[in-house]
Amino acid sequence: MHSSDTYDIIVIGGGASGMMCAGIVASSGARVLLLEKNRELGKKLSITGGKRCNITNNEPDVRTFLSHFPQAGKFLFSPFSKFSSADTFTFFEQRGLPLVTQARKRVFPKSERAADVVAVLEKDLRTHNVKVLTGTEVRALTTDTTDGPRVASVTTHQGETFTARYIVLATGGVAAPETGSTGDGFRMLRAIGHTIADASPNIVPLKTNSTWVHRLMGTTCSNVEVRFSQNGKVQLKKKGRILFTHFGISGPLILNSSFEVRELLKRGAVHASVNLFPDLNEAELDALLVQTFDAHKNKKLRNVLPELMPKSVAHAVIYLTNPSLGELSVHSILKENRRKLARTMQSLGFPITGTMGFERAVIADGGVALEEVDFTTMASRLFSNLYILGDMLHVNRPSGGFSLQLCWTTAWVAAHDIIERLK
Ligand SMILES: Cc1cc2nc3c(=O)[nH]c(=O)nc-3n(C[C@H](O)[C@H](O)[C@H](O)COP(=O)(O)OP(=O)(O)OC[C@H]3O[C@@H](n4cnc5c(N)ncnc54)[C@H](O)[C@@H]3O)c2cc1C
Repeated sequence: MHSSDTYDIIVIGGGASGMMCAGIVASSGARVLLLEKNRELGKKLSITGGKRCNITNNEPDVRTFLSHFPQAGKFLFSPFSKFSSADTFTFFEQRGLPLVTQARKRVFPKSERAADVVAVLEKDLRTHNVKVLTGTEVRALTTDTTDGPRVASVTTHQGETFTARYIVLATGGVAAPETGSTGDGFRMLRAIGHTIADASPNIVPLKTNSTWVHRLMGTTCSNVEVRFSQNGKVQLKKKGRILFTHFGISGPLILNSSFEVRELLKRGAVHASVNLFPDLNEAELDALLVQTFDAHKNKKLRNVLPELMPKSVAHAVIYLTNPSLGELSVHSILKENRRKLARTMQSLGFPITGTMGFERAVIADGGVALEEVDFTTMASRLFSNLYILGDMLHVNRPSGGFSLQLCWTTAWVAAHDIIERLK
């Protein structure tokens, strides 16, 4: 079945990058078709940042911004010099969505509603008459070499074929597959000869088999330091907030360590150690314990230690030091045992047995080999009329708004290149 309509461009995938790209190209008067396999657009975007959408990171200096993209920074300088996080402010604020900067330079819509970001992009699609077909899954790209290698058409699950001068692939990666990002774009690109690095979950919680950790599920500890060691040597240490879960640990510090920890796990066993008081030395922590015990002389340790940390963590500290201490009045705790408690508080240790899977990952690394993309335009170096955006690219990055900024930047650059070529 061949569609009789003709389009200037077809965008495959109605997520963050696909919607933005389609709207911008259509604003030039071009005929744009957007194909999305879900019934709705922006399903993943609508759950970002705990439904508040951490839309970018407010770092105006491009080089500093790109220092958060350790492996891909050199490829990204060109597109980010054209569309940076400052441009993201302008883009959304001009469309009636004020943004605010919060802790760690993370930027959110003032409304703190990810749905509002989706609504802004959808409005652009309507305003500029983008033809949107939801519930339409693209299954294959057909190539043609008559006029140099190019993608000639796309075929949907219903066997319908669409053609256009330019094709934009924005089908996302494989993280959180329930949102529609199931790696279809990777399969289609592999089939036409692109190199795709295997995906692995990234910005993802870590697992442990220590049951005492599982018992702390739901407990958050702020301003802790976690050290990850291999063969007795500390390989990575970070400070921040952690969340204990029924399978291990999560929270910003852990999510942003997961890439390095996964690399370590490939080489052998990894041990984590949590320091609950990273800003105190041994003597200072002992002094804090003495002071706390003095203020609660006749109470049991199990009721006093929660003055200094969440109750469940306090009980874990006692359990790991010596369970019988919990029932003692603090005034009867010997100096030696107090010191042992302090040592446990600064080195709560457990093995890391792996990372959680794609369903718990914020992003998946892997994707299209960066050498196969022209980053001045976001066009494929193999097929001159094919553009590749957002999560499809093999770009590792931390949480904090960096992923969505990659979407906005690549969408904007591709859209403007397409507009130029259509002239
Ligand atoms: C829980 C969670 C929270 C996150 N929070 C943040 C955050 O606060 N800040 C941040 O910067 N990043 C965040 N991210 C990452 C961010 O959501 C992604 O980087 C971003 O959505 C990627 O956009 P994309 O356009 O590349 O792909 P996606 O948003 O994944 O969109 C791809 C679209 O293509 C469609 N599609 C797939 N295959 C086909 C096909 N064959 N045919 C037609 N359509 C298809 C999919 O249904 C989907 O709608 C979060 C991710 C998750 C999972």
